[in-house]
Amino acid sequence: AGEVIERPASVVKELVENSLDAGADRIEIDIEEGGSRLIRVRDNGCGIHPEDMSLALASHATSKVRTASDLEAIRSLGFRGEALSSIASVSRFRLTSRMAGAERAWSLALSPGGETAEPVPAAHGTGTTVEVSDLFQAVPARRKFLRTERTEFLHILEMVKRLALCRFDLDIRLRHNRRRILHCRPAELDGERRIQDILGAAFAREAAFLDAQGGGMRLWGRLGGHGQTRNQSDRQYFYLNGRMIRDKRLNHAVRKALETSIPEGRYPSYVLHLEIDPAVIDVNVHPTKQEVRFRHARDVHDFIHAAVNETVQNRGGRGPQTALPGLDRGDASPSPAQGYPLREMAALYRNDRSASPASAAAAHIILGRFIVLPLAERLMILDTVEAKRVIIRDRLRRGLEGEGVTPRPLLVPVIMECTEDDTATLERRQALLADLGLELEAAGPVSLRIRSIPAVLNQADIQALCREMLAALGQDVDSDGLIDIMARHGSATAAAPESDDAVQQLLRSLNEAGIDPASGSQTGLFRCLDENDLAQLLRIHGD
Ligand code: ADP
Ligand code: MG
Repeated sequence: AGEVIERPASVVKELVENSLDAGADRIEIDIEEGGSRLIRVRDNGCGIHPEDMSLALASHATSKVRTASDLEAIRSLGFRGEALSSIASVSRFRLTSRMAGAERAWSLALSPGGETAEPVPAAHGTGTTVEVSDLFQAVPARRKFLRTERTEFLHILEMVKRLALCRFDLDIRLRHNRRRILHCRPAELDGERRIQDILGAAFAREAAFLDAQGGGMRLWGRLGGHGQTRNQSDRQYFYLNGRMIRDKRLNHAVRKALETSIPEGRYPSYVLHLEIDPAVIDVNVHPTKQEVRFRHARDVHDFIHAAVNETVQNRGGRGPQTALPGLDRGDASPSPAQGYPLREMAALYRNDRSASPASAAAAHIILGRFIVLPLAERLMILDTVEAKRVIIRDRLRRGLEGEGVTPRPLLVPVIMECTEDDTATLERRQALLADLGLELEAAGPVSLRIRSIPAVLNQADIQALCREMLAALGQDVDSDGLIDIMARHGSATAAAPESDDAVQQLLRSLNEAGIDPASGSQTGLFRCLDENDLAQLLRIHGD
C-alpha cells in the first residue's frame, strides 16, 4: 500500500483531488515543516456521512464508482479508492466532516496500526478537513527519502500552482508554518488575474494569447515572449483535458515551433490547455505519472506545432520595421491600459499643447521586447533587444580599445567539450579572447575550461557563445566581428525591461553609448509611431 504516496506533495495532491471530487470551490491548505509535521486540507465540499467515514479509510473503498460506464470514465483519472487508506497507514490521521444540512460534524482519528475507532461529534462547517500529522514518522525507510523542509514545501507549492492555473474558479489558500504563501481568489472566467497571481504581472502583460482549433482538438492559453524565457523548463504548464501533464513530445512540439524566436539554451514559459475529444482521439493518461498515450500522436504533435507557430508569426517579433509588434489582438489584449496616460500620449503625438508633457514623458508601454515611449515630443517605439546589442557592442569596443574588457570570473569554471581545431585555435588566439574578457584554457585535447566571460554579458548561454567565438576565430574573423557575436549573445538572452527604472536605465545606457534617443530614428533602434499604430494602440489600450 501507499505507492501513490511518495512525498508530502503527493499527499496534498490526493487530498485536494478528493476535495475537488466533493465539489468544493474553496480549499485551504496548511503545511508545517514541509509537510512532515502537518498537512491539513480543508474544503467546503459535500462532506462525508459519519457512517461512511471508516469505510472511506478502508482500502479500495471508493464512493465514486456506481455504474460500469462510470468505471470506464474515471479509470483514467485514477480513482482507485486507496489514497486515504494509504495515507492513514503512514501517518497520524484525522478526518472531520459535516454534510450539507447535517446537524453536526463528526470526526474520526486513526494512528498507524491503531484500531478503527468510531466517529465522535465535532465542530466543523459544511465540508471536510483531513489532517495528516507526522507523515512517515513510523516508517524510517520512507522518512529517509524526504528532502529538506524547503524542498518538500516547494514541491507542494508547485503542485498548488498547477492546480490554480487550471481551476480559475477556486479559492485556494496555502500556508506554510502559519505564514500565508498564496491566496488565489476566484478569478474571472478568462483567468487573467489568476495568471497574474501565479506567473506574475510581466507574464500576464506580455504573454501572447493563443486559441486554435482543428481535428477534434483545441489548444488555448498564453505563450510567454522573449522576456519570459527561463534557464530551465520550470514554467511550462501544459494541461490535457483539465489535467496537468508533462509529456516530452508535446513540450517538444511547442519548443520546436519556438526554435527560431528563442535563444538557444533558453526555455519558453507557457500555460497551454489542450482539449481533445476522447471520442475522436484515444487519450490515455497514466494516473500518477502524467504521461499520455495518443493513438494519433503525430496529429496531436503537428496540431500543437502549427498553433504555436502561427501565434509566433502573428506576434511579429522580427523588429519594429515590420508591423508594430505586440499590438495585434493576440498580444495586447491583456490590456495594461490602466495607469498609462494614453490620452496624453496621443495628444502629445498630435502636438496638442494643452496636454501635459510632464506626465506623459514618464510614461511608456512595454510590449514584450518593444517599448512605446514619448521622445522629443513624438511617440517612438524602441526595440530593447536591439538597444542592448548596441550598448553591449559599445562597451566591448571601448574595453578593447582601453585596458581590455572587464571579465566576470565564473564561480565554478565550466568544462566544455570541443574539437581539436578549437584547441588549436585557442592556443593561437587565447590572448585576444582574454582581452575580450573571455578567459579560456585547454583542459585536454578536446576539452576546454571557461574561466570568465565579459562582465557586460551578465546573461548568456556561455557554451554556445564560446563555440561560436572559436569557430569565428578559426576563420580569422576580426575583432569587430567577434564583438558582434558577443553582443548578439548578450542581448538575445537579456531580460526585457519590466519596470520604469529598467527603462530609464536602458535609455541612460544608450546615451552613454553615444546614441541620443531624441535624435530620432536613423539608428534603426527607434521608429516613430504612425497614425495606424496609434489607432491600434488606442483601440486596444484606450477605452
Ligand atoms: P477515491 O478518491 O479514489 O474514491 P480516496 O481514498 O481518495 O479514494 O477516498 C475515499 C473516499 O472518501 C472517497 O470515495 C469519498 O467518498 C471520501 N472522501 C475523501 N475525501 C473527501 C472529501 N474531501 N470530501 C468528501 N468525501 C471525501
Ligand atoms: Mg481520491
